[in-house]
Amino acid sequence: MKKAFGDHVVLNDLNFTVNKGDRVTLIGPSGSGKTTILRLVMTLEELTDGYIYIDGEPLTHTVRDGKRVELREKHRNHIRQRIGMVFQQFNLFPNMTVMENIIEAPVHVLKMPKKQAVERGRELLAKVGLADKENAHPMELSGGQQQRVAIARALAMDPEILLLDEVTSALDPEIVGEVLEVLRAVARTTDITMLIVTHEMQFARDVSNRVLMFDSGSIVEEASPEVMFTDPQEQRTKDFLAAVL
Ligand code: ATP
Repeated sequence: MKKAFGDHVVLNDLNFTVNKGDRVTLIGPSGSGKTTILRLVMTLEELTDGYIYIDGEPLTHTVRDGKRVELREKHRNHIRQRIGMVFQQFNLFPNMTVMENIIEAPVHVLKMPKKQAVERGRELLAKVGLADKENAHPMELSGGQQQRVAIARALAMDPEILLLDEVTSALDPEIVGEVLEVLRAVARTTDITMLIVTHEMQFARDVSNRVLMFDSGSIVEEASPEVMFTDPQEQRTKDFLAAVL
């Protein structure tokens, strides 16, 4: 696949496969295209060329007789519902309570009965350690608590794929740990496929089974975390890790 913003080619001839249940961490210097990949998978950006397949189905479009044919909205939405994303900036609805944030998509998109969505919401809030905050508004919560709500909100859709985009980058250092601990538990207790962009190398090491090193929109090196963080082969990976570890 290829992604360009105007003349600026951000991802070029990129080709990789994520298997069901994989926990893949994307590492690499700022601007190397990691966030763009997650946004493409979430269909928040349009591909310039090529495809993304989910379970063998193209995510957005197909080509027939040399012409691009968009998938029908309903079909796109159906695929989209299988993917959850947590952003750096939490992106909670500020005018809604914590519970309203969590049940919004299950009730409106999945048409889940409200009572059932609330019950599931309570389970998830307990899981992220915020059982007592369901009636709070995001502004009343710390950054770490808001991010844990955002994680619960993503899980409320029972996603098969979870995209985590630098979820601790906007947090004070002392509360990064509580968010990572919640995500470690999600990784331990579910088989959700995860695509993770993070600067937290210990976290990447703990949760992922594959690490992809990016530079300038291409994969420089792929390895298990054990190998990537102790015995990287490429000079660009060595330089990057020397700077961040
Ligand atoms: P970081 O760790 O800083 O978030 P990244 O590896 O995630 O970096 P991206 O955010 O994917 O990198 O950005 C890759 C490149 O694409 C950058 O040069 C960025 O300026 C550019 N880019 C991203 N989004 C847009 C946009 N909407 N319009 C124009 N250029 C963009």
